[in-house]
Amino acid sequence: MDPILADDLADLPALLDETRHAAAQVLTGLNDRPVARPSTANGAGSAAPEVGVGLRGALREFQQRWESRLSGSAGPRYLGFVTGGTTPASIAGDWLTSVFDQNSFTTVDSGASALERETVGWLGQLFGLTEHTGAFVSGATMSNFVGLATAREWLGERMGISVAQAGVGALGPIHVLSGAPHASIYKGLAMLGIGRDQLQLIPTQSGREAIDIERLTAALDALDGHASIVVANAGTVNTVDFDDLRAIAELKQRYPFWLHVDGAFGAYAALAPEYAHLVDGLTAADSVCVDLHKWLNVPYDAAIQFTRRRDLQVQVFQNTAAYLGTPTGTPDFVHLVPESSRRLRALTAWFTLTAYGRAGHRDIVQRNIAAARQLGERLTTSGLLQLLAPVRLNVVCFTLTDRPTTERVQALTQAITESGETFLTPTIYNGIPALRAAFSNWRTTDADLDRIYDAIITACTSLDKADD
Ligand SMILES: *Cc1c(COP(=O)(O)O)cnc(C)c1O
Repeated sequence: MDPILADDLADLPALLDETRHAAAQVLTGLNDRPVARPSTANGAGSAAPEVGVGLRGALREFQQRWESRLSGSAGPRYLGFVTGGTTPASIAGDWLTSVFDQNSFTTVDSGASALERETVGWLGQLFGLTEHTGAFVSGATMSNFVGLATAREWLGERMGISVAQAGVGALGPIHVLSGAPHASIYKGLAMLGIGRDQLQLIPTQSGREAIDIERLTAALDALDGHASIVVANAGTVNTVDFDDLRAIAELKQRYPFWLHVDGAFGAYAALAPEYAHLVDGLTAADSVCVDLHKWLNVPYDAAIQFTRRRDLQVQVFQNTAAYLGTPTGTPDFVHLVPESSRRLRALTAWFTLTAYGRAGHRDIVQRNIAAARQLGERLTTSGLLQLLAPVRLNVVCFTLTDRPTTERVQALTQAITESGETFLTPTIYNGIPALRAAFSNWRTTDADLDRIYDAIITACTSLDKADD
C-alpha cells in the first residue's frame, strides 16, 4: 500500500474528526459567508499531483485554495434559480451514503434497493402518487428524460412496436405539446432523438405561464387521432404558474396522449393544505418529475421520477446481461434508469424524512412561501420595484418600476450580487428584463428576509445615484 494511504488508514478516525470539524465550521459560518462568489477563473491547467499530501494536507490545501471561492448557496439568503439547502439529517445521510458506498442497482448483495423503495414509497405518499412506482435519478433533467423516454415507448406500443428495439425512426412524426416547458424538456427531446423542434408550444393564458386549455384542446383535435405527449407544468421557473392538471387529465378521455408533469419544485405545493389545490390532478399523470435537491433540501444530486407504466420503462432501460438477471417481478433499479451503477442516492431523503417527517417538510414549504409573499409585498410597497406576476408560491418575479431596461436590470443584479448579502438570478418575463427571488431553503428566517430586502433596496438606490 502506498505509505501515505497507509498512514491515512491508520489515522482514519482522527482524520474524519478533523473533516467533521471543518464541515461544522462551514455550516455554522454560512450566515456570514458572502452569498455568491462569481468566478471567472478557468481552473484548468495545473499539474496533477505526483506524490500526494495525505488527507490532512488535502484538507488544508482545499481550505487555502478553494474554500473561500465557493458560494454560500447552502445558506439562507441564496435565492438564485431554485436551489434549496441541506437539512442536518440529509447531510448525515449523504456522508453515510459515501461511507457505505453501496451500489443500489441490484438486490443480490444488499438491502440498499429496499431502502430506496421504502423512500420512493414515502415520497409517493407525500405527493399523492401512491399508484405510481418510482426511482431516484440525479436531478429533474434526468427525471424528465426518463418520463419522456417512457412516453416515447408508449407511442410505440400504440403502433405495435418497441421504440427501444426499433429505434425512434419507426415512429414517424412525434408530437410533443406544452405551454411553458422548462429548458430540460428540450434537452430531453434532443437526447431521445425526438428533437427539440418537435415541441409544439401551445399558447398560455393571457398574462400567465399556464397553458390555455382551449388552445391545447384545439391542438389535440388537429392531430386527428394521432397519439401525442403532453408535458404539463406544475410550477414554472419564472412565476411558478401551474397548468390546470385536472382539466388536462380530463382531455385524456377524448384524445390519446401521455401526460408527463414537470413538478420539479411545484409539486411541493401538495405538502401544504392551503396550496395543494395547485397540484390537483397530479395523480392522473402518466409520469411525474420531482426534484429533491431543490425543495426537499437534500444535497445534490437527487430527484425522483414516478410512472404508471413501469413495464414500458423497463423496456427502455433494461440492462440485460447474464450476470445481471432479467427484469421480472419487481425489477432492479438497473433496469429502470439511465445509470447502471448508482450510489444509494435515496439515503439523504430517507434521513431527512425520518428526522423531520412530513410535518417538518411542510413547515419548510410553508415558511418559504410566506417569506416570498412578504418580500413581494415589501418590494411593491417600496415603490421602487414592481411585481411582474402575483407571488403564487415561493418565487418573487419583479423588476424596476422606473425604466426596467436590460442595462439597468443587469446593473441591479450585479449590485445585489456584489453586496454579498443575497443572490438573485435574472430573467426575462413577457419581454421585460426582471429578477427572480426563489425561496427554497429551510434556514431562511424573518431576520434574513430583512437583510434580503435591505440589500435589494440599497442596490436599487445606488442605481439611481449612478444615473444622476
Ligand atoms: C430545476 C428544474 C428542472 C431541472 O432540474 P435539475 O435538477 O437542474 O436537472 C426541470 N424542471 C423544472 C421546472 C425545474 O425547476
